[in-house]
Amino acid sequence: AVVETDVVVIGAGAAGLMCAAHAGARGRRVLVLDHANKAGKKILMSGGGNCNFTNLYTEPANFLSENAHFCKSALARYTQWDFIALVNKHRVPYHEKKLGQLFCDNRSIDILKMLLAECEAVGATVQLNTSVEKIECIALEASPSAEGGQVAEGGAALAAIGGDPPVESAESTNRSKAAKADKRAKAAAPAAPPNDGYLLQTSTGPVRCKSLVIATGGLSIPTMGATGFGYEVARQFGHRLLPTRAGLVPFTITDQLKELCTELSGTSVDCLVSCNGKSFRENILFTHRGLSGPAILQISSYWHPGQAVEINLLPDRSVPDWLAQQRQDRPNAELKTILGEVFTKKMAQLLCEQWFESKPIKQYTHAELESIADKLSAWQLVPAGTEGYRTAEVTLGGVDTREVSSKTMESLKSPGLYFIGEVLDVTGHLGGFNFQWAWASAYAAAQFV
Ligand code: FAD
Repeated sequence: AVVETDVVVIGAGAAGLMCAAHAGARGRRVLVLDHANKAGKKILMSGGGNCNFTNLYTEPANFLSENAHFCKSALARYTQWDFIALVNKHRVPYHEKKLGQLFCDNRSIDILKMLLAECEAVGATVQLNTSVEKIECIALEASPSAEGGQVAEGGAALAAIGGDPPVESAESTNRSKAAKADKRAKAAAPAAPPNDGYLLQTSTGPVRCKSLVIATGGLSIPTMGATGFGYEVARQFGHRLLPTRAGLVPFTITDQLKELCTELSGTSVDCLVSCNGKSFRENILFTHRGLSGPAILQISSYWHPGQAVEINLLPDRSVPDWLAQQRQDRPNAELKTILGEVFTKKMAQLLCEQWFESKPIKQYTHAELESIADKLSAWQLVPAGTEGYRTAEVTLGGVDTREVSSKTMESLKSPGLYFIGEVLDVTGHLGGFNFQWAWASAYAAAQFV
């Protein structure tokens, strides 16, 4: 027998559970399907086990997308304060670690339990160990409910009247820009044929729904259940995909730097790291495999293979002036001793072995000191690559948002089909922004499914 429901959400992760809870709260019958044996595996492993669930300073500027305006509407309609209110309602203890990053005091499971409790409270069913084998769009005329004249809410009806449902709050300038972009995309796209929902063949039998929400995330950490399923569904319904790549990921290094990184493994340094016009001031961490740490993870999302990353190892001072002053004040001091006062002794020693010879500072010419200053304040590092999806926190690229409504997250290609969370081409910086996008995009879709 075919299971009938209003909404099927594929993916019981951050976005999927949030969407199910809010759609259920609107009276929708919701079924969440996931192929994994546990819901929210990434939530559980997030934030080093303490889930950095949002950021106090969330703004559209914290997100990368080829369509920069897209995220604005959803972020404005479900903010970090809304999620904090939910966390408070469930009495989940948390703290700000740094830079507005909110982490659970206890374990990440607090957030997962909270989402599952919200789903349960509204009767949304979460069904695990279920894979979706086939998705078909049900044509209006072929549909039993159409024959019975009962086509009511959902994508088909919305498509038939040719517009987005109203948004409850007033639009800001930015949001109206996004709405204009939606309209332009709609005008450019051929009219999506109306349908009467979707028929899914799953490993536990057929399921029929009015609205289908794709919340299957990105490609990072395949061992946690990540697949390219959402991209395949997007392709099936004629969506454009933007190339995907690993983001928030450590760099691997060439043989030349192997010794430095291995010897300094475990050392972190407060740096200013820049690439492609973007800079982050945080720690870098030397590892056996290369470079990691928050500043490296952040810049990795902006880096493309072959490019150099610029690292200022002494961002709080003018290094040429500082070295010139040292030369004047203590001419007999060795470079290694001077550097040992701003870095660890081991790092100073290694830099002097591998980058500069160490001798009393008075023995360097002005040109030599300038070149040392240059290396310390603008180290040009060309990473060999990244550690890839194996360790990446996120996937950049994905479903092109120019073919998705920024108000509803509904496909402009197939009515009643929605994309939320990481499967879309919206990627947050490190610091709780990716979860905030999952919550906000899920909430947006939940108002319309
Ligand atoms: P996911 O949470 O990945 O959920 C996708 C779901 O879809 C999964 O349950 C998966 O099993 C299911 N699925 C996949 N394919 C199929 C299929 N074919 N059939 C059925 N189900 C399928 N972000 C933060 O903001 N703060 C953090 O502290 C943080 N820490 C992180 C730590 C790590 C190690 C990683 C990898 C990521 C971290 N992130 C963090 C990023 C964050 O986890 C993701 O951006 C977020 O989970 C995306 O939510 P989503 O619902 O779109 O996808």
